[in-house]
Amino acid sequence: MLSFNKAFLFILVVLCTISCSFFKSSWSKLNVFPVSQDIELGNQVAAEIASNPADFPLLPVSGNENVYNYLNDIVKKILATNLVDYARDFKWEVKIINDPKTLNAFCTPGGHIYVYTGLMSFLDSEDQLAGVLGHEIAHAANRHSTQQLTKSLGVQILLDAALGKKEVIKQVTGTLAALSFSRANETQADSFSVLYLCPTNWNANGASGFFKKMQGQPTPPQWLSTHPSPTNRIKNIDEKKNEHQCKGKESNSSVYQNIKALIAKITPPPPKTTSGANTNNAPALPKTNTPTPGKSDEKPAPAGTGPMAPKKVLKKG
Ligand SMILES: [Zn+2]
Repeated sequence: MLSFNKAFLFILVVLCTISCSFFKSSWSKLNVFPVSQDIELGNQVAAEIASNPADFPLLPVSGNENVYNYLNDIVKKILATNLVDYARDFKWEVKIINDPKTLNAFCTPGGHIYVYTGLMSFLDSEDQLAGVLGHEIAHAANRHSTQQLTKSLGVQILLDAALGKKEVIKQVTGTLAALSFSRANETQADSFSVLYLCPTNWNANGASGFFKKMQGQPTPPQWLSTHPSPTNRIKNIDEKKNEHQCKGKESNSSVYQNIKALIAKITPPPPKTTSGANTNNAPALPKTNTPTPGKSDEKPAPAGTGPMAPKKVLKKG
């Protein structure tokens, strides 16, 4: 039997262990950037992207209504699950980047979602696309971008960018491009992707179909070898589907093939000239999350990572 002093000490140690792990967990989720400014910051980044067609050749809505409606309907269906934080607050609008060589999608703070035509052409089915979009939505809804940008740039620069200061908007957009999500955030976004799709009639593990397909590529993109192992991600995504007992089975492959046929008809923009575009200060792909020093599980992937963190799978010439 423990003496009173020993028992007291034991209780103290237990309480300390619990509280330390609580604070550690809370600290890892700390995001001092006010959520009310996510929308403003996202709007500023979106405007910056729209003003840079050399790096972000946005596909006009006019003439491409079918594809845009298709994508926005998928996003609406995900939001309708009522499982997405800020579903009514953030923008949640899709824009298509006309770049058939880039397998990518990304989401700014505040929910501006960008999907490359290259990614849409690459995927096989609607559940895969929904899985990818769910992953991107999860990054924004969990505020991974502002969390990481705050660590990297400091909250004041982000606030200035949200207020519309041109020079810092460029800096923030450029930094977003160079940042990567942490492994923990990627895993979380993968898990949320399943959670979002679970109440729908889609295969809830659509995102794992994307990874499986990527693994089969003859020349896998660099991020596949450096970020959380695709094998582990597939395993995690598939396990989450079982864990939540998701019943959906639809892949809507035939509908998706029709959309791919429309994508195939889109004329790619002319190749960039060497002057100006794609230089070092070009605000490339908005990305997220900087390194979290000293934590192996928080080690960020290099630029262009994550299934859906802004990543360039194929280098542009
Ligand atoms: Zn991601």
